[in-house]
Order: sequence, then structure tokens, then C-alpha cells
Amino acid sequence: MESDVEQRADAESIRHNLQAVNARIDAACRRCGRSRDSVRLLLATKTVPPERIRRAIEAGCTLIGENKVQEFQHKHAALADLAVERHFIGHLQSNKINDVLKYVTCIQSLDRLDHAEKLQARLQREGRRLDVLVQVNTSNEASKFGMAPEAVIGFVRDMTRFDCLTVRGLMTIGLLFSEGERARDCLRLLRTLFDRLKSEAIDRVTMDVLSMGMSLDYEQAIEEGSTLVRVGTAVFGKRPTPDGYFWSEKDR
Ligand SMILES: *Cc1c(COP(=O)(O)O)cnc(C)c1O
Repeated sequence: MESDVEQRADAESIRHNLQAVNARIDAACRRCGRSRDSVRLLLATKTVPPERIRRAIEAGCTLIGENKVQEFQHKHAALADLAVERHFIGHLQSNKINDVLKYVTCIQSLDRLDHAEKLQARLQREGRRLDVLVQVNTSNEASKFGMAPEAVIGFVRDMTRFDCLTVRGLMTIGLLFSEGERARDCLRLLRTLFDRLKSEAIDRVTMDVLSMGMSLDYEQAIEEGSTLVRVGTAVFGKRPTPDGYFWSEKDR
């Protein structure tokens, strides 16, 4: 259990980190002549306990994302009173599709048509719709989730037959900032695909969300056109679990 002093110190540090990230988003937008409200900040809350997520929401965060349906389940009751938008940003498993729909208004990680089919069937029964982003494997690593870049346009065209799903854009994890220009290439590739899809003006496809950029590269991502950056570490600190556990087939 945290003492009162520890709780206050943690709330203060989360508020401080959030302000710092927001200031850097402001500056990145200004540098490339974009309006501040063209970029949303999502807090990636995997492994973060609900009381810390609550502190971030009380400090002004309006959008959170989890990678595991189980984490939504475990944290739900503790956060149920808070108005915050929730997205799923992790690897989707077929047997969790009905459950994930209880918690989110957007799935950012769609990369399989059979999952879209299952989502559609369930949504139709519930009489509701859902926003989705298509996750793209821009780093061409066999172990990483997401679909191959060359398959994306065909996939989005196929998606139009699911009338309960609205494709709003694309998402990628890409390479880490430390990988230099190759990391930048991943951001550019996603942006290029996004622009191509926009110009195709596919019926019922909106294409207004480009989800890329994490703690180490959100400023670069904004320069490359990101409209939604997903930040965890820069606000909550380092996680105990290696990211490979969430991001790829190996390490599992
Ligand atoms: C964890 C995670 C993030 C945030 O990563 P940080 O480096 O902690 O900012 C963003 N997107 C996805 C899909 C994640 O799993």
C-alpha cells in the first residue's frame, strides 16, 4: 500500500510528466505548422495500476489504451466512474473479441479479416458500431503483429462489407527511435499508405486517424503527420515487463 505522501508524490509526478509531454507536443506542432488540436494524446496504460491511471485522468488525460483485454477487465471497476475514452491497442485474440467490445470504442490493432467478421457479427447483434484502425507492420519484422504494407489497401477495400465497422485510419508500432533513420522510414511508410488510402476515397472509409509515435519518437511522428500519439513510459515511468511480451510472437 502507498502512504498518503507517496500517493501525492506520484500524482504530482504524473501531472508533471503529462505537462512536459503536452508541452513537447505543442512545440512539435508549432515547428511543423500544424494546429495543436490536430494531434491527440493517448496514454498507454499496460501494467499501470488503476490508481495511477486515475491520477493521469484527473490531471487531464482523456484517452487511454490497453494491450490486453484482461487488463481492461481487472481495472474496470476501479475506473468505472471516470469519463475517459478507451481504445484497444494490443494484439487481438479471437476468443477475446466479445469481451473487448464491452470496454472500447475503437480497436486500433485490426489486422485480420476473420476478426473483422467476428466483430461485425457481434456488433450487429448488439446494434452498434465500432471504429477501427488497421495495424501495419511497417518494420517488416516477421515476429511483429500487423499486416504487410502491400496488403493494406486491399484489406481496407474488403472491410467495406462490414457495415458495423468504420475504418478510421492506420496504426503502427514501427522501429524504436534508437534505430535512427530506419525508424523514421516506418513513420513515413505509414503516412504514405494513409495518404494513398485517403486519395482512393473508398466508400464508408473515413481515414482521419494516423496513430503513430510513442514515448521516444512522438515528436518525429508528429512531424511525419501523426494525428494520435500513444505514450506510456514518458508519463508513467519504466514498465516491469519487456515490450516484446506485448508486441510480438517471440518472448511470449
Ligand atoms: C506500450 C505501447 C505504447 C507506448 O509505449 P511507450 O514507449 O511506453 O510510450 C504505444 N503503443 C503500443 C501499441 C504499446 O503497446
